[in-house]
Amino acid sequence: MAANRLAPSAALVASVSQGAQQQELYDTRALQKLDSAHYMHPFTDHQELAAKGARVMVRGEGIYLWDSEGKKILDGMSGLWCVNVGYGRTSISEAVYRQMETLPFYNSFFNTTNVPAVRLAALLVELSPPQFNHVFFTGSGSEGNDTNLRMVRRYWELMGCPERQTIISRHNAYHGSTVAGSSLGGMGGMHAQGGLPVPGIVHIGQPNYVEAGRGMTEDQFGLAAAGWLEAKILELGADKVAAFIGEPVQGAGGVIIPPATYWPEIQRICDQYGVLLIADEVICGFGRLGAWFGSELMGIRPDLITFAKGVTSGYVPLGGVLVGDRVADVLIEKGGDFNHGFTYSGHPVACAAALENIRILLDERLVEQVAQSTGPYLKERFASLADHPLVGYADSCGFVAGLNLVRKKGAVVHDCEAFKPEQGVGMICRGYMFGNGMIMRAVGDRMIIAPPLVMTKAQIDEMIGKIRFCLDATLADLQARGWM
Ligand SMILES: *Cc1c(COP(=O)(O)O)cnc(C)c1O
Repeated sequence: MAANRLAPSAALVASVSQGAQQQELYDTRALQKLDSAHYMHPFTDHQELAAKGARVMVRGEGIYLWDSEGKKILDGMSGLWCVNVGYGRTSISEAVYRQMETLPFYNSFFNTTNVPAVRLAALLVELSPPQFNHVFFTGSGSEGNDTNLRMVRRYWELMGCPERQTIISRHNAYHGSTVAGSSLGGMGGMHAQGGLPVPGIVHIGQPNYVEAGRGMTEDQFGLAAAGWLEAKILELGADKVAAFIGEPVQGAGGVIIPPATYWPEIQRICDQYGVLLIADEVICGFGRLGAWFGSELMGIRPDLITFAKGVTSGYVPLGGVLVGDRVADVLIEKGGDFNHGFTYSGHPVACAAALENIRILLDERLVEQVAQSTGPYLKERFASLADHPLVGYADSCGFVAGLNLVRKKGAVVHDCEAFKPEQGVGMICRGYMFGNGMIMRAVGDRMIIAPPLVMTKAQIDEMIGKIRFCLDATLADLQARGWM
């Protein structure tokens, strides 16, 4: 039913103003009906959504969310890997409000700038590894990776090597959902729709020890997996390769933590062949791994770093690229106009949110806390789940962690017996988690978390308790089906 836009009905006006009030009571069924009638969700099967109805989130505080039915939920995923400082931070909303009152928007084209964007650029340079002195702002991580693609190709044109165009990425990587982002990413399901990846992007295997490391130690496997990059460079010819891109720890691909030998060998190979190194730190940045940037932890010196998510803790969308001196110097000294940018590059409100978010991370020493106290505690408590009959393997790095659900445990991870993919055991487990007030995500049969960095040790205990309870419920269910 189309509304009359010139003379909107009282009901339509009321439904819009409802959002502005702090309503405590919601008509969940009505919202679900409107949702499935009109709202196309990202990465969603809409027939399934319509049948089940979406869960309506209405409020957040610290590490907890509340839905429209009043149910309290422990958010083990920080929204979508982003709410690093937790929900309900009044000082961020106040900073955003003040900036909106002062200057809600101005662009950074045509030789203009704004105060929060300048301050944030300078602060990010201070927090990042020494080779970074410049920042390019975007509205999201995907746009950051689009920027990387254009920037590295532009760099090689300016260097007099216009044939160095190919970017090497990895299977099962996630680099966003724009055409460039999803092409750089290595998700088979995304590539299967709409003719992706675009030309000039190729993929090698991911450093997934559980899947591909049989017969090797982790350290041997790390070197072997890095070797796939060298083999690909030699196959293509180094004079054709512009850059390699990777997440320090793969997030959406299932929290794949590479062996310690992997990244230093990748760095050595990039150095040897002059290939630019792009670290996609959209998840790993801003304390997620117990360091400001995951690159520092992995011992690499990337030329470009993509950031988003944790830079504002998701309160307002913001992303961008830290541009290392090797690239920035050439673009600035030889490049003239770089014909690239977004209306919302350096958006003053988003930058104000980021400044306050980073102040909180610094003031509350949250990065240090994850590195020295809560991160090690999570590692120990999460590893204790490996004694559960369903858990074949559990590991973590800072505040990301994952465990593999298996039908039968083995002496080494490669001897575990997996469930059949079509049984959808991960999704069954996720259902028990969600139903019991715990958000844990399933990637195949790997269950993953990325909790807010403010999570305390007592809250880690609470979370581990919930996870164990839901693993038990999943086990009982699978036994009842005769799958165990
Ligand atoms: C989420 C994510 C992106 C995409 O960011 P958007 O803000 O959703 O565009 C890119 N890279 C990584 C590693 C991500 O996790």
